[in-house]
Amino acid sequence: MSSPISIVLIEDSEDDYILTEEALSEGLAGTDYSLQWLDHAPDPDLFLEQYDPDVILIDYSLGAVNGVDFARDIRERNAFVSIILLTGLSARVFEEVDQQVEGVGISDFFPKKEVSGATLSRSVRYAYENSIQRRQLQEQAATIEDILLRTEVVMWRESKLSDQEGWECFCSDSIQKLSGYSKQEFIRRRMQLIDLVAASDCERVRKAYSEAPSGELKLRYRIICYDQSERWVEETRETIRDPDSGEILKVVGCLRDITREIESESMQQLMAKSLDQSSDAILITDANLERPGPKILYVNKAICRMSGYSESELLGQSPRIFQGPKTNRKVLNRLRSKLLAGDNFQGMTTNYRKDGSEYILSWRISPVVDSSGQVTHYVSTQTNVTQEIRQREKLKEQENFLSEIGSMAKVGGWRYRKSTDHLYWTDQIYEIHAMPVGTPISIDDALSLYSKVDQLALKNAWHTCLDEGVPYGLTLEMRDRRGEHKWCHTQGVPMWVNGEIEGVWGVCQDVTESRKRSLELEQALRDANHANEAKNQFLMMMSHELRTPLNPIIGFAELMLSETTDPEQCAFLKQIQFSATHLVELIGEILDIASIESGRIKLESKAFSVSALIHEIIEMFQPSAQEKALSLEYLDAAHGDSDTPLICVGDESKIRQILINLLNNAIKFTHEGTVRVELLPPALNASEVDVTVLVRDTGIGIRAENLDSIFDRFYQVDQSASRKYEGQGIGLNLCRELAELMGGTIHVGSEFGVGSVFTLKLKLPRHVPEGPEPRSEGANTCLEERGQVLVVEDDAMNRLVISELLQSLSITHVLAEDGFEALHYIESERFYLVLMDIQMPKLNGIETTRRIRSGTSPNSHVPIVALSAHVVDDIKKEAIEVGMNDFLEKPITLSKLRTFFEQTLF
Ligand code: ADP
Repeated sequence: MSSPISIVLIEDSEDDYILTEEALSEGLAGTDYSLQWLDHAPDPDLFLEQYDPDVILIDYSLGAVNGVDFARDIRERNAFVSIILLTGLSARVFEEVDQQVEGVGISDFFPKKEVSGATLSRSVRYAYENSIQRRQLQEQAATIEDILLRTEVVMWRESKLSDQEGWECFCSDSIQKLSGYSKQEFIRRRMQLIDLVAASDCERVRKAYSEAPSGELKLRYRIICYDQSERWVEETRETIRDPDSGEILKVVGCLRDITREIESESMQQLMAKSLDQSSDAILITDANLERPGPKILYVNKAICRMSGYSESELLGQSPRIFQGPKTNRKVLNRLRSKLLAGDNFQGMTTNYRKDGSEYILSWRISPVVDSSGQVTHYVSTQTNVTQEIRQREKLKEQENFLSEIGSMAKVGGWRYRKSTDHLYWTDQIYEIHAMPVGTPISIDDALSLYSKVDQLALKNAWHTCLDEGVPYGLTLEMRDRRGEHKWCHTQGVPMWVNGEIEGVWGVCQDVTESRKRSLELEQALRDANHANEAKNQFLMMMSHELRTPLNPIIGFAELMLSETTDPEQCAFLKQIQFSATHLVELIGEILDIASIESGRIKLESKAFSVSALIHEIIEMFQPSAQEKALSLEYLDAAHGDSDTPLICVGDESKIRQILINLLNNAIKFTHEGTVRVELLPPALNASEVDVTVLVRDTGIGIRAENLDSIFDRFYQVDQSASRKYEGQGIGLNLCRELAELMGGTIHVGSEFGVGSVFTLKLKLPRHVPEGPEPRSEGANTCLEERGQVLVVEDDAMNRLVISELLQSLSITHVLAEDGFEALHYIESERFYLVLMDIQMPKLNGIETTRRIRSGTSPNSHVPIVALSAHVVDDIKKEAIEVGMNDFLEKPITLSKLRTFFEQTLF
């Protein structure tokens, strides 16, 4: 059922109202309608809201209000209501009003006097139908607007304004949702779509518009919305041009927001690009797991690079194309069952390239599921891990190697981190400590295995390393978990991280074996040293014991020689003298070697003339040279033109010993020709002298192959039983030891059958003499005039021989048997010199000297010269320390005694 026609009459005259009311009731009889009467023009908004009329009948003149103006107000607010204007004006004025009414949207206008039931009802009916149609149109338009709003499509129309002032653009309401501008704003501001286009697209769009032929055109561009945001739109436009001039008359079209499409399009493009350019190889197949297997639908470039196949060679194939003999079937079976269960799969196996070469592939396959839960595809991400696997294998091999070495060397590594308070041990360290590998271990556990003392040392070292970064290395005694006694050497260094000490790490080695060996060695060395010491003690004692009886043998032989004229007896005595002297020398040499070995030998520092020393030795050897008819020469080039003798500071007796040995050998091994000693011009500087002495002979020479060995101890070139040269092979060895002890060298040069030359080189401090020379001939005074000598000697034979010797030199002397007797003499008589034996029973020479020196007798400063068969440096040193002035070695010979008295300045 249709609703009643709602009619509102706005009429200020009640009569006219009644007239109109009667006309309507007559004309609309049988029609459902309502009539409301208002006697003035109301507020249009309130009016429309309150009455919502279908037809408004309005008087032209409503007092001050013009009915046409009111009708215009209503029309602006409502496009559908029908307005009928009634007027009581004259025909002339009526024509004027008729013109005013144009464009206001009034459906009918007639004079009141023409109002009748028939005319008015016809006009009202017509107006009502119009209103209904317009309402329907409005509803349709609203529906379209709604659709447009929902679909976010904007319908629009641009038409050229007739006044040539521009264009008018009508848009659907949805323009507001799209652009933020309302359709009214478009009209009010005379906006066109081009006004929305973003500057960057504007030129392109304008060009397209102007060039667009009649018909449809699609364009995509960006617009700038009211809130300045940017959106993508797609415009479809239909251009209507003047067929003659080609001028654009009208454009209609629609606009669609495609921002999201564009975004998702570019996202899709990005994803496609990412997939394609991904360094991970990606392969997509369909979900067919049955024979012939899933079909490859997509491969990215990395797959092609990795496999050597092109995209077209792979698409449509099954991934079996990559498999080969080494491809692990078990892995493939696992893959299949996982995929059948709809699970992800991760695995590794060998694949094959197009050229047949192998590579190890790690791959992960995930099923793609559609909205119904059905697996539609498989996506596989693949990585070539050949390098990593090979490196891992290599690393594993190295680790095993290191571990093997560690086991062999019983050495392992450890690491402690402060931050985690965690101590890590390698397997070898567990082995060393006899603990199951992997047992959790704390610092205290580790420490508890060491001995108490070592625990403390290790704790200290550990904390110093951890706090101050000081590395350590300790050999520690421990008991392993099985209680086995062990030694291990542990080293720790700080672990620096970003300039901070994060912990300590290091190595630990089981050194039990080497420690045991070194302890054994140390013990063996101690034993050897004791044995050596015992040997040296024995040698010293033997030397003393042997020299003591030799002293009288040599002395008496010498004395008898001076008194005997019988040539046969002379020869025997000489033989006795020679053999005894040789024996003494031998004892001396053995003792010297023993002293050097035990480090007992001390060097003396006394000023002496090298030239004078060589002279003395040459003199000594003249007789034996003459005996062999050899010429013994001395070439002294030390002084040059200077008269000043060259005085050095050093151990004269040791240099003498070396030169005697060399000269002795030279004479021994030379049968004809010359033995010559040369003192080369020394290289001098303010404080030192380079002394070079050559001992040259024209003897048997030494073969080149023996030259290196002759300085070895007990070495002799001719070792056969029928040797014609006596000797023990000690001399040269002693010479070299002594030379080296003094910081010098000794070398040999020789030509077999031609001769040899031995060169002694020494660097000695230079002595600048202040007083008289040490070897001056100052002792001119007659020996017997000097006063009497006290001889202290416990051995009766020695006393006798010394006494005889002194007597033969006309030196008055007194003999004392021991120290006490000597002290007695010292107290009671005056002496020029004391010759004091060292080793004596009761009171020995050292003690006797100490007492003399500390006594108050006039003899307390008397020169005391030791007379001893003890020739080791220690005893000499002790003798000098207690105040003895010099040392005379036994056996004492006449010549030795004479030289002593002649040269001593006491
Ligand atoms: P020895 O007591 O046997 O002489 P040395 O140590 O003095 O012991 O000498 C070792 C060896 O060197 C001698 O046995 C000899 O063979 C050789 N030798 C030493 N000096 C000479 C030399 N001047 N001429 C030839 N051979 C020499």
